Amino acid sequence: MSKITKVKGTQDFLPDDMARWSRIIQKIHTIMGKYNYGQISTPAFEYTKLFSRSIGEDTDIVNKEMYSWTDQGGKSLTLKPEQTAAVVRAYIENNLQAISSMNKLYYIEPSFRRERPQKGRYRQFNQFGIETIGSPFPEADAEVISIAYRTCQELGITDFELYINSIGSPECRKKYIFELVQYLQKYSDSLSDISKRRINTNPLRILDTKDDKEIEILEGAPNILEFIDSDSLEHFKTLLALLDASKIPYTVEKKLVRGLDYYNKTTFEIRSNRLGAQSAICGGGRYDSLINQLGGKETAAVGFAMGLERASMLSNLGSTSTIRFIYIASIGDNAIKRAFKLAENLRSLENSKIHLDVTRRSIKSQFREANKLHSDFVIVIGDNELEKGGCTIKNLLTKDEQFVDDEKIIAFFN
Ligand code: AMP
Repeated sequence: MSKITKVKGTQDFLPDDMARWSRIIQKIHTIMGKYNYGQISTPAFEYTKLFSRSIGEDTDIVNKEMYSWTDQGGKSLTLKPEQTAAVVRAYIENNLQAISSMNKLYYIEPSFRRERPQKGRYRQFNQFGIETIGSPFPEADAEVISIAYRTCQELGITDFELYINSIGSPECRKKYIFELVQYLQKYSDSLSDISKRRINTNPLRILDTKDDKEIEILEGAPNILEFIDSDSLEHFKTLLALLDASKIPYTVEKKLVRGLDYYNKTTFEIRSNRLGAQSAICGGGRYDSLINQLGGKETAAVGFAMGLERASMLSNLGSTSTIRFIYIASIGDNAIKRAFKLAENLRSLENSKIHLDVTRRSIKSQFREANKLHSDFVIVIGDNELEKGGCTIKNLLTKDEQFVDDEKIIAFFN
């Protein structure tokens, strides 16, 4: 029979991968604790309209990347393609603003998008993100950006850069889009088919182009920062001053508008050129109108989402652990019983992993396995040890071997 494989664009995480993954997740929880953020988790799927209403009808995600289906009750449901809309839905539904006017939330959740798989791009991927809800002020943006920056640093990512921009208010963006379209139409013969179409559907997306010729054309395009209103400009300047004061380096990138409809004022991205074509580790921005748009009270908010597979590819947090590994080898029925009990007792030791052989293989094979698992110690229990009321403990690093009485085993490892 033919084998069943995993779905294209998905990944298995094997125990070694998970050990590394856990270290990354643990680090994130620690950072979030220091900033006093609370974790939130939302369902894997939501009503489709949540995403079409928030992300925008004219975006790649909504147009062609969502995993949507109609359930037996006739409702259209979608696996979350991103997390902000779901967090905002939960914020409104659970009345979180009644508990506090300021909510600092973070999540670590899987997202699903039917994109073309490639290095760093999957159809199921994990995002760590934060949503800072309740402040219209630039210090909230600065805190969000510093969390993204610090997370990259603490994950041991070395080559990354922060890009930042402001896209102002929806009104000034309309003016900008009008000018951008006028400009691009002059060059429409030189644009790719997809960009030609986007002039009418979503012109801002053209700024994301990877096509060299289009990049050159865009050099002369109008700059969004020249169109933004005075309030947005003031906000942007204060934010940059806060980043300067915290010594967070950045590059103002006039083409950074981000794909989703709900952003206003600040947009930012962290990229690394070690990632290949999918260079974005993290993206975020301010979304002051989204909560109202989804039925909540008008509330200012800012956040980011970081792709954890990409962060993990760049992270130098190894999975090497400082935990002592003790392998218990036994031979014979009585020895197996003794070994089982000893293993349970040894699990009271701090910072230790106890691996009990349960395969009844020969002592030689058990030693081979202990070496393969990089054990620090092997405890051997056979007839000889049972008779003498103890066990033999071998240190695999120093090769020292000694007999230890039963009642002294715990003390030996302490
Ligand atoms: P976005 O909201 O699309 O900017 O996504 C935020 C972050 O999630 C990106 O900066 C990536 O690091 C990560 N990301 C987005 N799409 C994918 C994907 N298909 N596979 C892996 N990571 C992704």
